Amino acid sequence: MPLPVHAQAATAPETAHPAPRQVLVLYSLGSDASSLWQTLIRRGISAELANQNWSAAPGIFEERLDSVRVGEQPAVAGLETYLQTKYRMVHLDAIITENYLAAQFLSQHPKLFPGVPRYYVNQGRQDWAPGDGVNLDVRHDFPKAIAVMLQVLPALRHIAIVGDGSARGQAWIAALRSASAPYQGRLRVDFWDHLSQEELRRRTEALGSGSAIYLLPVYRDVLGERTTPPDVARDLASRSAVPIFTSVESLILPGVVGGYVISGEKVGRTIARILQGRAPDANGMQAYIFDDAAIRRFGLRQLPPEARILNRPQGLWAQYHWQIIAGLSLIVLQAALITALMLAQRSRRATLATLHEERTLLEERVLQRTLELLVANSRLEQQATTDPLTGLGNRRMMTLRLGEELERAQRFGHTLSLLMIDIDHFKRINDRHGHDAGDRAIVAVAQVLRSVTRGMDTAARFGGEEFVLLMPETTLPVALEVAERLRIAAAHLRVECDDGQLVNLTISIGVTSSAPQATAPARREPDSLTDLLIRADQALYRAKHAGRDRVEWA
Ligand code: GH3
Ligand code: MG
Ligand code: MG
Repeated sequence: MPLPVHAQAATAPETAHPAPRQVLVLYSLGSDASSLWQTLIRRGISAELANQNWSAAPGIFEERLDSVRVGEQPAVAGLETYLQTKYRMVHLDAIITENYLAAQFLSQHPKLFPGVPRYYVNQGRQDWAPGDGVNLDVRHDFPKAIAVMLQVLPALRHIAIVGDGSARGQAWIAALRSASAPYQGRLRVDFWDHLSQEELRRRTEALGSGSAIYLLPVYRDVLGERTTPPDVARDLASRSAVPIFTSVESLILPGVVGGYVISGEKVGRTIARILQGRAPDANGMQAYIFDDAAIRRFGLRQLPPEARILNRPQGLWAQYHWQIIAGLSLIVLQAALITALMLAQRSRRATLATLHEERTLLEERVLQRTLELLVANSRLEQQATTDPLTGLGNRRMMTLRLGEELERAQRFGHTLSLLMIDIDHFKRINDRHGHDAGDRAIVAVAQVLRSVTRGMDTAARFGGEEFVLLMPETTLPVALEVAERLRIAAAHLRVECDDGQLVNLTISIGVTSSAPQATAPARREPDSLTDLLIRADQALYRAKHAGRDRVEWA
């Protein structure tokens, strides 16, 4: 029979990227959640396919006969026609059967999918081998199964083997009989394969120490009552006081110990290798598998080192590592926050201290500046009222003082006198002897003025070479005397010129007094500042006209 074109292409060595394989898998069991066997197979397939490149991922077609739930006859009724119709347009590279019924169905339909390679995986019939495909049956290794029971339970003296009357069940029982033969005398072996469920339960409950059960898949009891292998396993586990070993991974349910079993996961891996077109390994589908709780309950020892332990409670770290990491992270985060807060507070304190220092410094500076300003102000005020050449008061100062004294004189009824003094022919001194000599003459006259003034008097330089002497509480005769003394003193002055020549000078003086109100009732208005100055100036004018070096009064 020629191979289909696509099958040739898939095996052609020169094809760089062969098309993904398309494989049909016929499962004997259903996919319902209670089918632990299917779950284990799926886990094995996924694990085996997980690492492969997706472009090479096989196209997987799956059909589930669901034989345990619907019964063997209905599971295959009309199946051939159904498959032929459904897959007419699909070019398959292989067909895989899993378990007993699917294998039986395929072998009975040789014309189904002609030329497509057939793989019989875990077909479970020890007495039969397919003639039209690759036989990947898992032969139960009962000698190993019995040996491991004795290894982990050294006190074991009695094994009750639970099976059923089916052809498969009886083939397994026959194999177990010969596997247990070498232990005759040391080990009593009972075969519970023709018991009613009732009787099975009763005997199970009666088992005592030194005994164990070895459980095969059981599908019906001696009365023809249908059941399922997991139901039997659960039922016995709930009643048995002794360990229950089994031959299939899917029967290691709570309360079942395990043993050397056919591994559903490994069967899945074998199927995956066929899906990928790799060589399957018929010997790699059994394993030592034990349940952790059962190991501890029955004190099993000396487990094979390669044994896989199911449901082992995880260590504290494995169980809670996310919580532990989260907790530690929170603690670290809190510590960091607290540190940050403390640092912030410390820097705040430092900032406050600096601010305080700065404020104190600033206050000191403000105080210093205020003092400097006061000093500068008073100096300015002094400068504003002092004549720089003579050191006497200036016109401004005299005006202020005169105003004040005039008011005082009027309030207290005193007489106040005012002298206006002018150097005679001063221009000549400047012209003949130089401006500096003129300045020295002004300073000399100021000196004379100072020498005649009393504490209460005020002398001021009023203009260029013009002076005013204010004499409070001084009558006109007294003032005239003072003026005369001044005139004489000035006439005796000798001013030294740059050329060493000594120059003499004279002054003219106009004197006036303010009459007190009490003594001058006839006058309506009291003297004003201007009145006094004008009168003194008029007297001075007269002195100049009368020949200078004179005192005149108004
Ligand atoms: P009189 O007798 O009529 O007063 O004649 P005089 O020359 O003094 O005339 P007047 O008073 O009009 O002249 C004042 C002169 O004084 C004019 C000016 O050149 C001079 N003078 C004014 N101030 C200063 C000064 O500060 N230093 C000097 N060296 N001379 C001054
Ligand atoms: Mg003058
Ligand atoms: Mg003059």
